[in-house]
Amino acid sequence: MTDPIRVTVWNEYRHEKKSPKIAAIYPDGIHGAIASFLGVQPGITAGTASLDEPEHGLTDEVLSNTDVLIWWGHMAHREVKDEIVDKVQARILNGMGLIVLHSAHFSKIFRRMMGTACSLKWREIGEKNRMWVTAPGHPIVEGLGEYFEVPHTEMYGEFFDIPQPDEQIFISWFQGGEVFRSGCCFYRGRGKIFYFQPGHETFPIYYQEEVQRVIVNAVRWAAPVNVVGFRNIPDAEHVVEPMDSVP
Ligand code: ZN
Repeated sequence: MTDPIRVTVWNEYRHEKKSPKIAAIYPDGIHGAIASFLGVQPGITAGTASLDEPEHGLTDEVLSNTDVLIWWGHMAHREVKDEIVDKVQARILNGMGLIVLHSAHFSKIFRRMMGTACSLKWREIGEKNRMWVTAPGHPIVEGLGEYFEVPHTEMYGEFFDIPQPDEQIFISWFQGGEVFRSGCCFYRGRGKIFYFQPGHETFPIYYQEEVQRVIVNAVRWAAPVNVVGFRNIPDAEHVVEPMDSVP
């Protein structure tokens, strides 16, 4: 039997404290809602962390015991300490998975991993989002159909300033006419990153079955691959002796 995948769901946890309307949708916070559907999946354990905890809840111990980190943030990206971002980046480069949700496109950690502005277009009128699957052989879309719809959401539109994704999983159409690369995979060092657009805080999107399914699938995809004896990144290695004789 393999060890469970250990997930930490990180949320800045500010909207839920400030807005009774949002607190009514997510009484235990967005992180609580996500951890509760993940925690009942076979082979997955889920904990939470948030901005106002010491070290934002991401101590060395928590990070070294996290296989996949999920990140939700919106209004307080700038309050995340750079030294914590440094540690999270180092863990990703050495194999930890990262799932970046919705407005976390502007989080420090996602921008650090992408190296671009990660800016986009947006509009908040509760329009429909049709998420088209563009990688039907990919494990993240296991169990979905050709597309699924989020009935009311915030529009995110192109141009989304990210590097060309290593794998494009979803492209969204929005009722107002825009399109968006709404599910994108990236490989960085030994780690895997999935950006997933659904999740505006004023709609109950993380209770939707297809959205939960994608996040569960993404956790399984992003979990570290066990490579024995692999060097620590970013260290280089001076290989003095060739493996085979060189004439
Ligand atoms: Zn939003």
